[in-house]
Amino acid sequence: MPKYTSLSDIQAALRTGETTCRAIVGHYLAQIEKTRHLNAYIEVWADEALSKADALDAHLGEAPTKMGRLCGAVISIKDNICYAGHQVTAASKILEGFTSLYSATAVERLLAEDAIIIGRTNCDQFGMGSSNENSIHGPVLNAADPSRVPGGSSGGAAVSVQTDTCLAALGSDTGGSVRQPAGFCGIWGFKPTYGRISRHGLIAYGSSFDQIGVLAHNPADIATLLKVMEGPDDFDATATDGKGREAETKPSALHPPPSTLKIAYFPEALDSEGMEAGVRNATLGFIEQLQAAGHAVEPVSFDLLDFIIPTYYVLTTAEASSNLARYDGIRYGRRSPAAKTLEETYLLSRSEGFSEEVKRRILLGTFVLSSGYYDAYYGKAQRARALIRQRIFAILRDFDFILMPVAPTTAWRFGEKSADPVAMYLSDIYTVLANLAGIPALAIPAGKHPENRLPVGVQLMAGMWEEGKLLDFAQKLRKVERG
Ligand code: GLN
Repeated sequence: MPKYTSLSDIQAALRTGETTCRAIVGHYLAQIEKTRHLNAYIEVWADEALSKADALDAHLGEAPTKMGRLCGAVISIKDNICYAGHQVTAASKILEGFTSLYSATAVERLLAEDAIIIGRTNCDQFGMGSSNENSIHGPVLNAADPSRVPGGSSGGAAVSVQTDTCLAALGSDTGGSVRQPAGFCGIWGFKPTYGRISRHGLIAYGSSFDQIGVLAHNPADIATLLKVMEGPDDFDATATDGKGREAETKPSALHPPPSTLKIAYFPEALDSEGMEAGVRNATLGFIEQLQAAGHAVEPVSFDLLDFIIPTYYVLTTAEASSNLARYDGIRYGRRSPAAKTLEETYLLSRSEGFSEEVKRRILLGTFVLSSGYYDAYYGKAQRARALIRQRIFAILRDFDFILMPVAPTTAWRFGEKSADPVAMYLSDIYTVLANLAGIPALAIPAGKHPENRLPVGVQLMAGMWEEGKLLDFAQKLRKVERG
């Protein structure tokens, strides 16, 4: 049981003098030491976190009413989010030793509200993976069962919250990398609407999919962090305030949501091949719970399920092949010491610097973009994405939310899927949908699998820019659950 389960508890304790920022950071640093073997952190900025805590404590003593909105919030950041003057590697050899020249807009906004950043967390290389086994820093172990993966790619972020080493974590979600590890580790994970949080300073993977997301102990903390980080940014033209965009799905601002909502689920998803019975039952149990609370949870047929994985993997690999072209051994990052000519510099730096998985995706992405195959793969996948979006938006005009499991299984054992990339890709079936459509999605802990006792997560997805409604609803649900 974490010592502090919410920012409001922490801030109340700070106000009464029951605790200090230094004591809070001290608690988290002790937890980090205790859980070192899980390998969640690549680097811990202990001294810096303690001195920031001291500065905040001194400030609180003088002007307690001027507390920043995130005073007392200790946050970990994934190793693909830039923080000026700090190393960032995207868990790849190609960026080993690289120091950020600037901070991500999201990080700057957190710091401006007095958050303390405690360290950078382990992940799959460039965010490519679903198990955190693809990192130069070694795998992360799931605290619920250390013989199992924590999920990925933000596995370190999930374990950092699961083991109470910070209040919340920033991760990135291109196809589920915040929500799936949150589900595997029994915590909350949230991906906002595409464009809600600036991507400036997030190391790019698939730019039309990437979003920074939050992993936390509860939806209220997620909402607070979102409010601080969201909004337009001169450094990212896709970051906006969403005004007028709600209408893409449903103009809910004009229709305050009733107390009972309409929620759709896809029977095809629950009956799909590879779905573990325990996860299916937990999802059905969650549906019953919603129905008992008076919500209408109805089956809606979604016949595009088989297309979502191929569409996602064609488009994201295409975008990755272009985004990762910048790692050429010339401008920054690792340069092969063995290279003697310009061509060798490119060839050896990239061959030695990227992992097998990253190379596989660059090759696949280059192939689907090549002139002979562009229409057959990239063009077709773009059309499929448009169709999927249209279908999802149409459903969200009739329903408030869509309910899905987070993944077809609970956390698997190390090595179980690493020899078979397609099996690994297929495990993303329920999360990539929200990134294809650009909609917000929240992973919610939904109890334990009856046999292996591992956490099971369910997901609620909402219309574009409707995260306010989604997070409000989740908070109400949580209150009911806790009684
Ligand atoms: N597992 C997915 C992939 O490998 C999602 C990754 C992510 O969201 N960064 O692409």
